[in-house]
Amino acid sequence: MTSIAANLQAVRARIDAACLVSGRPAGSVALLAVSKTWPAGNVRVAADAGQIAFGESYVQESIAKIHELAALPELEWHFIGPLQSNKTRLVAENFSWVHSIDRLKIAERLAEQRPSSLPPLQVCVQVNVSGETSKSGCAPDQVAALAHAVATLPHLKLRGLMAIPEPTDDPVEQRAQFARLRRLRDSIGLELDTLSMGMSHDLEAAIMEGSTLVRVGTAIFGIRA
Ligand SMILES: *Cc1c(COP(=O)(O)O)cnc(C)c1O
Repeated sequence: MTSIAANLQAVRARIDAACLVSGRPAGSVALLAVSKTWPAGNVRVAADAGQIAFGESYVQESIAKIHELAALPELEWHFIGPLQSNKTRLVAENFSWVHSIDRLKIAERLAEQRPSSLPPLQVCVQVNVSGETSKSGCAPDQVAALAHAVATLPHLKLRGLMAIPEPTDDPVEQRAQFARLRRLRDSIGLELDTLSMGMSHDLEAAIMEGSTLVRVGTAIFGIRA
């Protein structure tokens, strides 16, 4: 077995264990394999091991990779990085999901540019839960307004919220930040089935707080250069 296949198996075991500990059904947390910076060949190895959903952060790099892997139409591509207005068309035309909606203008462009021949683009609003000035994401007190506006747009389906909390090794603090995102989701007054939270180092804490989708790169593909 390749190390990517073994790593995937280990990550799935961590997800299953965290589901068990938190009394959630196995299979209630989806795994997004974050393949940014890694070549198409690594994605193919993970796909051969049964992985379907892949996350990318850089538009140019990801479009090349998606085209290279066009022979695997079952793959599901999620855009998770910062998105500039001039790159929205490529994302609208090539991805199934966007997790990083942080302002209405980006959502409006994606709605306008999503081809009608494709299913609606599945989107999450990214929230800056730790309030760091350097991080992207919508401020917590603006999430409800943004989410309600995004929910009215055609060709988009608002699924939930996403966050990248400030990295910390303290599981109590990790859980506090994820709990903040869950409470926000619950307070918006829309049917939102997705909490995109948890990465290689904190997926257990995220699952304990209700994550429905963890985004894992390093633990699957290794340390990025
Ligand atoms: C890179 C990235 C990840 C994966 O992080 P790892 O620590 O490598 O698991 C998850 N989410 C986002 C938004 C990322 O940019």
